[in-house]
Amino acid sequence: MQDQARRQLAARETQIRAQMEALLAPDAELTTAALARCLGESEAIIVEQQTAGTAHTALQEELEQVQRAQQRMAQGRYGVCEVCGTAIPEDRLEVRPWSTRCVQHG
Ligand SMILES: [Zn+2]
Repeated sequence: MQDQARRQLAARETQIRAQMEALLAPDAELTTAALARCLGESEAIIVEQQTAGTAHTALQEELEQVQRAQQRMAQGRYGVCEVCGTAIPEDRLEVRPWSTRCVQHG
């Protein structure tokens, strides 16, 4: 089960990094151009930057959580709540393999 979780965490990490790169890539120009037709150029750029910024922050946070789960796995404490030490239910880990807390502390 840990092997599967390890693979899931690694896959998620790769996915998050790809999404972050895509956000920073210049092909976002298309969206800016579309927004510019409705909003005017300068406003469209601001909206675009805010949206990308928010998404980027969310991805960053998720990446940190994935890395924390990987760290706990390396310490042999994967699947155990980092607050109270209770085992995290398997169905919770199945949905979010990067959970580092039990339901009560999540
Ligand atoms: Zn707990």
